[in-house]
Amino acid sequence: MHRLPSGATIGILGNGQLGRMLCLAAARLGYRTHVFGPDKDSPAEQVATDSTVAAYTDEAALARFSAAVDVVTFEFENVPATAAAFLTSHTTVRPSWRALEVAQDRIKEKQFFASINAATPPWHPVHTREDLEAAVKKIGTPAVLKTARLGYDGKGQAKIKSASDADAAWQAITGGKPVPGGDTFAVLEGFVDFRCEISVIAARGVDGSIVCFEPSENVHTNHMLDTSTVPARIDAATAKTAQDIAMRAMKALDLVGLLAVEMFVTTDGKILCNEMAPRPHNSGHWTQNACGTDQFEQLIRAAAGLPLVDPARHSDAVMKNLVGEDIFKIYTYLTDPAAHIHLYGKTEPRPGRKMGHVNILKPKT
Ligand code: AMP
Repeated sequence: MHRLPSGATIGILGNGQLGRMLCLAAARLGYRTHVFGPDKDSPAEQVATDSTVAAYTDEAALARFSAAVDVVTFEFENVPATAAAFLTSHTTVRPSWRALEVAQDRIKEKQFFASINAATPPWHPVHTREDLEAAVKKIGTPAVLKTARLGYDGKGQAKIKSASDADAAWQAITGGKPVPGGDTFAVLEGFVDFRCEISVIAARGVDGSIVCFEPSENVHTNHMLDTSTVPARIDAATAKTAQDIAMRAMKALDLVGLLAVEMFVTTDGKILCNEMAPRPHNSGHWTQNACGTDQFEQLIRAAAGLPLVDPARHSDAVMKNLVGEDIFKIYTYLTDPAAHIHLYGKTEPRPGRKMGHVNILKPKT
């Protein structure tokens, strides 16, 4: 297995907070980092060794970037296909484009889950207003209409409580504009009456070995992650089933890197997969302080061809996102020895903007 030597450079596509935390983990292992993204003075740029501020479509900038790095990974999955193809033909990209392609599109993602025998909420593809009519008849209500691509934190989603909401939901996700041709535009999903939401994060090395973090229990407020708690309130069999799904998914994608799978646990104890992301995930931030090795270091190890390590948890933890003006709560956390603070270097606490998070630890139960 080829291992990147100390001082080698890890390229990171995307320069938000996940990139920032990847840079910090890379530095601990003796690597330089070079981040690439469109935003100036970004959270990642502040701590990276080097930075390119350019559009993902700027091939000249991508060429300079790929020549300057030894391997490329990414902190978000909506990398344009053209950028991913360009980088793949010029350098080593971990994880590969295939994982991105599946995770970028909710329909491909659901078909992929079916192919590895992992259940999802009932769903139906929707490309036209007429399709929506048929989908509502098939799936019933309540249901959620979601754009197939580029949705996050509840953006591009509209709830349909009864059939009469279909017009408003269609208007909400199309913005009243004609739907572009090409891939199917949206998907209608049955609304799941869940007992809780969980996620599993697994890492897979160049040699195919997999390590898997424990599931966390996630609470969303206004569609955005608010807290992740470990241990999740699920039994051992449910936790194992959830981890098996994440590991099957990684093997099927032959993925080198990280995979986060978000799931619903239904009131009758079944697991339904919601979505997945082949990158560090907000619901895995608890690993920074509750485990010997966190999700960011596992990804850097995988990308660099280093061995992965047992991610056993040594403490119970609650990760709380600091969104917008929540940032001012750090003055309380600063005097709490159980609180481990991670801020992203953003200056303006706009509503809905993730400014940081805090991991509050308790002795392991
Ligand atoms: P998503 O962007 O698909 O992860 O959705 C964000 C959040 O909306 C999820 O974490 C859930 O809290 C909620 N949600 C999304 N889809 C469904 C569904 N089919 N049933 C119930 N809640 C959902």
